[in-house]
Amino acid sequence: MAKKFQNFINGKWVDAKSGKTFENRNPANWDEIVGTFPKSGKEDVEEAVKAARNAFDSWRLMPAPKRGDILRKVGDIMVARKEELARQMTREMGKVLAETRGDVQEGIDTAYYAGTEGRRLFGHTVPSELPNKYNMAMRVPIGVAGIVTPWNFPMAIPTWKIFPALLCGNTIVFKPASDTPATATSLVEILLEAGVPEGVVNIVHGGGGEVGMAIVSHPEVDLISFTGSTGVGIKISEVASQTLKRVSLELGGKNAQIVMPDADMDLALEGVLWGAFGTTGQRCTATSRLILHEKIHDDFLKMLVDRVEKLKLGDGLQPGVDVGPCVNEGQQKTTQSYVEIGLQQGATLAAGGEIPSDPNLKKGWFYKPTVFSGVKPDHRIAKEEIFGPVLSVIKTKSLDEGIQILNDTIYGLSSSVYTKDVNGAFRAIRDIKAGITYINAPTIGAEAHMPFGGVKQTGNGHREGGWAVYDFFSEWKTVYIDYSGGLQRAQIDNY
Ligand code: NAP
Ligand code: MG
Repeated sequence: MAKKFQNFINGKWVDAKSGKTFENRNPANWDEIVGTFPKSGKEDVEEAVKAARNAFDSWRLMPAPKRGDILRKVGDIMVARKEELARQMTREMGKVLAETRGDVQEGIDTAYYAGTEGRRLFGHTVPSELPNKYNMAMRVPIGVAGIVTPWNFPMAIPTWKIFPALLCGNTIVFKPASDTPATATSLVEILLEAGVPEGVVNIVHGGGGEVGMAIVSHPEVDLISFTGSTGVGIKISEVASQTLKRVSLELGGKNAQIVMPDADMDLALEGVLWGAFGTTGQRCTATSRLILHEKIHDDFLKMLVDRVEKLKLGDGLQPGVDVGPCVNEGQQKTTQSYVEIGLQQGATLAAGGEIPSDPNLKKGWFYKPTVFSGVKPDHRIAKEEIFGPVLSVIKTKSLDEGIQILNDTIYGLSSSVYTKDVNGAFRAIRDIKAGITYINAPTIGAEAHMPFGGVKQTGNGHREGGWAVYDFFSEWKTVYIDYSGGLQRAQIDNY
């Protein structure tokens, strides 16, 4: 029988009040059920928010270094369980073991970073414009944080949000993606084992429209941190604005890698293979456009197609597999429909473009790694996020034109330029409109201690990761202490 999972609300593991459940299956083998999970609703969210609200006062009063100690312990437990967590994640969402290990490692890095931040969490002390007066601004907790996450980084993304939120003294209502509830449950178990008190962390499983929306619209939830698609992000920001919540949105991408004729071609090739087909192209930072200078276009394309055709598709738990399945049937269908759109608009299929016929892959949501050449910058496959193993190759005459093409989307998350020309590299860093630019490295590879996020419709101006995320999860409290013994009026008595 499939393992039965529960919500964790107010310190107890419980079913959905309705008693309803949903199944999660292995995308590499849909006969295999990972588990059954509570299909929760508004009434379950109500309980979770109440618990988080009640727990807030004691949690916010725990000294930040103590909260940091708990998060350091979270990191230690994740180190001990790393392999088991990675295997669970591959079974649940399909990416290969090397990548799920990396996903867990990002959580570990984020935990240790949060641990040290407990002893920093710096504010500012600045001089007053008046004598015998002291000014400071310090960080204070905000309240109940609603956390809504996607399935493609089922451990890393929740940790990016939950660890800094907790360190800053907030309590949590967490709704993970319906495709990765088991990994999310493991994270909650680890938080409890490390000593997070009752009510501080609550997890409610279920659909985005029901559980997610109930969190976003709840008047007692103070802030929302969301990662997912741009469409859902817009909806969330509309609903959250009704109660004037603070909202952080990390949304879609249409990232590109530019290759100049002076680049190291082998390096650029390794970069695009990893960037485009890692996580089966299902990364917000995936390379989905390759902009090749015309001088190297034909040779590079040939090398690329040769390597793409050799990528091994399969169950991510098997050694030697390069590319796992799409996460579910919907994602496989979206990929197929974009392949049809590419062909209709006149692009040339250079590799892949179909569901594999290999009988060993018959029970999974596999799709062949796909390359389109002859893509024009205004083709839909050059503009819209596909979130599958599809790479659109576009030819350019110069670096400046390449940058223009790169910028010509509604998104602005990640970008990459392969060149040995230092002048060109710095121009690209200056002119590319994206939150992240890599030089001589692929569009994927964020490190936990650096700000992460995008511009334009990739987000709403916040950053996760590193020191930047602590701004989002804390409020500034400004304090003036007048020790002059008299009334001193700013802007009046001193001028
Ligand atoms: P999604 O459909 O937007 O879902 C993300 C989360 O939101 C899931 O937990 C989902 O729940 C929930 N949700 C869905 N509809 C909702 C609603 N109406 N109200 C509240 N919550 C709702 O995205 P996805 O397909 O899981 O993930 C892929 C997308 O995420 C891509 O666009 C990708 O670029 C983006 N992404 C961005 C970043 C970044 O940092 N910029 C990182 C990773 C992924 P269910 O699972 O139950 O539907
Ligand atoms: Mg699944």
